[in-house]
Amino acid sequence: MEISILRLFHRVERDKRVTTHLALVGRAFCASKMFYTGDRDKRLEDKIREVNGRFGGNFEVIYVDDPVQLIKCWKEEGGIVVHLTMYGVPLLDIIDELRNFRKILLIVGSEKVPRIYYEISDYNVSITTQPHSEIAAAAVFLDRLLEGKEFYTEFSNARYKVVPSPKGKKLIRLD
Ligand code: SAM
Repeated sequence: MEISILRLFHRVERDKRVTTHLALVGRAFCASKMFYTGDRDKRLEDKIREVNGRFGGNFEVIYVDDPVQLIKCWKEEGGIVVHLTMYGVPLLDIIDELRNFRKILLIVGSEKVPRIYYEISDYNVSITTQPHSEIAAAAVFLDRLLEGKEFYTEFSNARYKVVPSPKGKKLIRLD
């Protein structure tokens, strides 16, 4: 399954850590890229490139000017669009159905998300009906979608690998 994230309306100052963490969650939880709109942020792009350089994989962060056009192209290519919002259908009612799709674009907002995204999405999905965080929502969604497969993912071309350890930090250099 191919999964991409679309992060709407990034604001360089207010969201720098949140959007970076969202990309890190996407990368760790098997998405292949994160598109983002709003302010272009070279530091965000560099940070994720640096993590790929150390821990492998080729998770991409791509700025888009026109997210609605991106969504339309995604759907034309046979992908489906899932928008995470506290107002949507409970995740547990829909997750089995979502596993049948080959390509999922996961939209996460920042502040108020315009109505068009609710309408253009194939599914508006909630992870509890309480307001919380885009990072938490994406992590829970991806974990439930993948049923824990992310725990076994190996990243290609990694320079470092963590060796799980009950105490302390163990890191081996692979190159
Ligand atoms: N009122 C917003 C909403 O529509 O969910 C909460 C804004 S929150 C600061 C930013 C983003 O986090 C939202 O656009 C949504 O993608 C995600 N989010 C927050 N709470 C959520 C929830 N309970 N279920 C799904 N997504 C949530």
